[in-house]
Amino acid sequence: MVSEKARKIIHIDMDAFYASVEQRDFPELRGKALAVGGSPDGRGVVATASYEARKFGVRSAMSSRQALQLCLHLLFTRPRFDVYREVSHQIRAIFKRYTDLIEPLSLDEAYLDVTEDKQGIGSAIEIAKAIKAAIRDELGLTASAGVSTNKFIAKIASDYQKPDGLTFIGPSKIVPFLEQLPIDKFFGVGKVTAQKMKSMGIHTGKELKEFTENELIRRFGKSGKFFYHMVRGEDNRPVKPNRIVKSIGIEDTFETDLKEEQEMLKELRVLCEKLEKRLEGKAKQGRTVTLKIKFANFTQITRSKTSVFYLNTAEDIFQQITDLFSKANMKDKRVRLLGVTISNFYDTELEKLNNPQLRLF
Ligand SMILES: [Mg+2]
Repeated sequence: MVSEKARKIIHIDMDAFYASVEQRDFPELRGKALAVGGSPDGRGVVATASYEARKFGVRSAMSSRQALQLCLHLLFTRPRFDVYREVSHQIRAIFKRYTDLIEPLSLDEAYLDVTEDKQGIGSAIEIAKAIKAAIRDELGLTASAGVSTNKFIAKIASDYQKPDGLTFIGPSKIVPFLEQLPIDKFFGVGKVTAQKMKSMGIHTGKELKEFTENELIRRFGKSGKFFYHMVRGEDNRPVKPNRIVKSIGIEDTFETDLKEEQEMLKELRVLCEKLEKRLEGKAKQGRTVTLKIKFANFTQITRSKTSVFYLNTAEDIFQQITDLFSKANMKDKRVRLLGVTISNFYDTELEKLNNPQLRLF
């Protein structure tokens, strides 16, 4: 049986991870508005912005062009993923001093269950402090920590006082905290769902709470049930140390075969939007996009493309798909099925790193 005892969950999130590693390794970049990824000629997308750049409004996933408009003196540097992976490995080694129940969400983010910690410290707040101190002293980087009794609250808490923050949201504070929380901050509520909720008059947790479980299920399906419990602080999802999801894909078979390329692109766009929602729900982003096309005669082709950046928005994925599609010879072809898959996730790469036998090089 699962114990009814309150769990102790920590969410650790590195501050401006890629940019902070660059500033640590190259002193001339310290104190500067810096973008990792993108380029000064306006091409490409910013992967991470330093806090100095964020003051000007520069954000992750923003085009270089837009970033430059906001911050003329912005410096650009190329990402060094092998270094970030190595640092991620070092961070994980620090976590392991306290618990083996570690669920990485990306290279710079993880949940830890410290209900039973290896050193018998007993206080999740003390453990979070010790982890932050080790990351600072041993790796020269800062992290923010959120401490609570479930994953969702711990994750929100880590974001609350960034950078270098430590926020504890204890059981008695969970309900009032969730009531004042803007709806788009809730786990699993993406842009589309947030819009829908706002149109129903739901802007905060308090307003979400006014809806019955059945009503929410009726409007949002299975997620509705999840939202109902989440807003009451009931999130029992365990910290899962070994989840290895290698790819997430979505496909659609059409009642009548598609003949026009415009129609196919339209369907692909819809698939990308659905995929974005699935990725959002699983907090995933991947670098490889695969297009699958099954023709009316049941032959099929797949085409893949790997990007330098991790993708998780419909727009970015669709851009890759459009590119792949334009290279497929679609002349006089009739299509019965289209599929879009994303793979090469952050945490799969992390797993490879931690399981050397899986290494491909
Ligand atoms: Mg981070």
